[in-house]
Amino acid sequence: MFGPPGSGKGTQSVTLAQKYNLLHLSTGDMLRAEIAAGSDLGKRMSAIMAAGELVPDDVVIDMIAHKIDATREKAGFIFDGFPRTVEQAEALQSMLAGREMKIDRMLVLEVNDEELTDRMKKRALISGRADDADPAVINNRIEVYRAKTEPVIEYGRKAGVCHEVDGVGSVEDIFQRLCSQIERII
Ligand code: ADP
Repeated sequence: MFGPPGSGKGTQSVTLAQKYNLLHLSTGDMLRAEIAAGSDLGKRMSAIMAAGELVPDDVVIDMIAHKIDATREKAGFIFDGFPRTVEQAEALQSMLAGREMKIDRMLVLEVNDEELTDRMKKRALISGRADDADPAVINNRIEVYRAKTEPVIEYGRKAGVCHEVDGVGSVEDIFQRLCSQIERII
């Protein structure tokens, strides 16, 4: 599941995972859990996340590899917020190939910047996430997305798996758009 910060990746991924028996893997959630647990890794990552920068590639790649290997009895995975750089995408592809798996679909939620900023400010009131509360951090996250993560879309296009989905509308309407994409491949 792809898209800029605030595009609804998390909301939609959780429901899609339930519907299709997939394991939802959100690197953002995993990193926040490390911070909440007070682990060494969490302590090292917290300032990076608070600034809206990306944590090092090897940190998230290792997290994902461990989860994939520990998972049984799921039809597949839905990655949310990963891969976020071309290096992460390459690592994911070789990680999957080595386990006889592949990326079936890359769904890109398209939402304009104004709507994104608006949604994140609202989310800050509920989530308590510091990176949603500060407009400078929100802007930085959108810029980091455009510079480092958008190139991954081109990577998906070349692999023939990329599909854009209109990410503006009701949560239910967007969910239906995503389901119709998934149902083409199952
Ligand atoms: P959002 O999509 O709203 O930015 P996430 O929960 O996906 O929220 O990510 C929050 C923060 O966690 C990011 O700004 C970044 O600092 C860090 N992060 C999450 N996933 C990755 C990743 N794959 N690579 C590097 N940093 C990540």
